[in-house]
Amino acid sequence: MPDTDVLVVGAGPTGLLLANELALAGVDVVVAEQRPERSGQSRALSLQPRSAEILDLRGWLDPIAEQSLARLPAGHFAGMPVHYGDLDTRFPYQLGVEQSVVEAHLEGLLGAVARGHVLVGLEQDEEAVTAAFDVGGTRKVLTARYLVGADGGHSTVRKLVGAEFPGRAGRVRMAVADITLASADDQGWRLPSFGDTTAGFRHLIPLREGRSRLLFAGPEQQELARDAPVTAAEVQRALGDTARVEEVWWASRFTDASRQAARYRHGRVLLAGDAAHIHLPIGGQGLNLGLGDAFNLGWKLAAHVTGRAPAGLLDTYHAERHPVAAAALASARAQGVLTIPDEDVAALRGFVADLISDPATNRRLAEQQAGLDVRYAVPGAAHPLLGLRMPDVDLPDGTRLNTRFREGRSVLLDTSGRFDHVVSHVDGPDPSRYGVAGDQAVLIRPDGHVCWIGDDEDSLRAALAGVVTG
Ligand SMILES: Cc1cc2nc3c(=O)[nH]c(=O)nc-3n(C[C@H](O)[C@H](O)[C@H](O)COP(=O)(O)OP(=O)(O)OC[C@H]3O[C@@H](n4cnc5c(N)ncnc54)[C@H](O)[C@@H]3O)c2cc1C
Repeated sequence: MPDTDVLVVGAGPTGLLLANELALAGVDVVVAEQRPERSGQSRALSLQPRSAEILDLRGWLDPIAEQSLARLPAGHFAGMPVHYGDLDTRFPYQLGVEQSVVEAHLEGLLGAVARGHVLVGLEQDEEAVTAAFDVGGTRKVLTARYLVGADGGHSTVRKLVGAEFPGRAGRVRMAVADITLASADDQGWRLPSFGDTTAGFRHLIPLREGRSRLLFAGPEQQELARDAPVTAAEVQRALGDTARVEEVWWASRFTDASRQAARYRHGRVLLAGDAAHIHLPIGGQGLNLGLGDAFNLGWKLAAHVTGRAPAGLLDTYHAERHPVAAAALASARAQGVLTIPDEDVAALRGFVADLISDPATNRRLAEQQAGLDVRYAVPGAAHPLLGLRMPDVDLPDGTRLNTRFREGRSVLLDTSGRFDHVVSHVDGPDPSRYGVAGDQAVLIRPDGHVCWIGDDEDSLRAALAGVVTG
């Protein structure tokens, strides 16, 4: 017998959300993480609206939201604001909260992470996956029925299964530094940003405890090696005379490399989050994509290992999530071009800014950046809501729909209860409120996406069989 049902490699946001989803479904899961302890550092500083919705569906958002620094009413496309205020969501804003806060909460819910476990080897056969770890210089072997590589952009899992990772290498080198400025009077906030300067870009974001994050890229960064330490002197040169750096708390380099695994499933091994796709971190999409991958995979893998999944369900993970990341990568590449410091690009930027000022275009881009436009190809008659995530509607009993997903199961939203002999329903409001005919019911998957809208029992039974069997 394998040691566990599922071995998740990597305790970043993707691995931790996935492990919680599996545990919620009663699946035996082990998370193995190379770091002996949590770093407390954060690359991502915000949660997009869909990420907030995902966490809210399981009741995991509130403790995270309580620690947020800000609610930003807009996202951005290449630095141009896209407004979230009118989006049909309970969270029409980016929640300004560090990745470390999200990770700490998800790890706390899970209870245990096998820390200090560096994955070094991986084999699989028809029965199980065998993973070898270096644990403080000692070799340790763990076996599992399935293994998920959520081990970030340099994924060892991806390399060990020989996954193709097509795309392109980075062309631009950038740096990030969390710093304290010498005094609050330093007007670093007035730094030019996103293509305003021919020398590159500098962008300053306020953090908690008087700290700031400086993102920058100029000619100097192009000359330095990817793994060269970011020094305080380099940060000061990037800031110029605008402000004086007192302390550098954390700094790192990154690039605009853009790659995506050709296949997310390799037999008993699956890839998720940055392990499956890397891109320029512009517009705050990486964390959102990783949480979306985990939320799509969790209930499917749980159904699969507990024998309740219809044939092919697990493979819909790649089918549904690969196109989502491909679109995000294309968006990041397009945004990267728009930030190139060049006068012709500045002219192009002017045209794009004009187009984005149109409310309909702005809304479309806002839905994209917010992660609310994701539509999965589910079978059935075309309906505008089919495949999209269901908005969190108020229910007649005074509660709201999202609270019905706490256990990670599908939900039938209905006004009549006529299908209760097939599956119990949740009493919904007038269906016309969300664009559905009065006599129709709505079946929503555990991840909140609508997979059936209809009024006849046979097609409901068929839709249910596509989600779980028995
Ligand atoms: C400068 C910068 C700013 C960013 N800002 C944003 C933002 O504002 N919004 C946003 O959404 N995204 C942002 N991102 C991207 C975001 O941080 C990532 O997309 C996100 O961390 C991906 O999560 P993950 O869990 O997939 O991978 P990771 O967070 O990378 O986690 C992977 C985990 O796997 C572990 N691991 C790696 N190798 C092994 C091994 N061999 N054995 C065991 N464990 C291993 C690592 O230690 C790590 O804990 C930013 C990225 C950068 C570089």
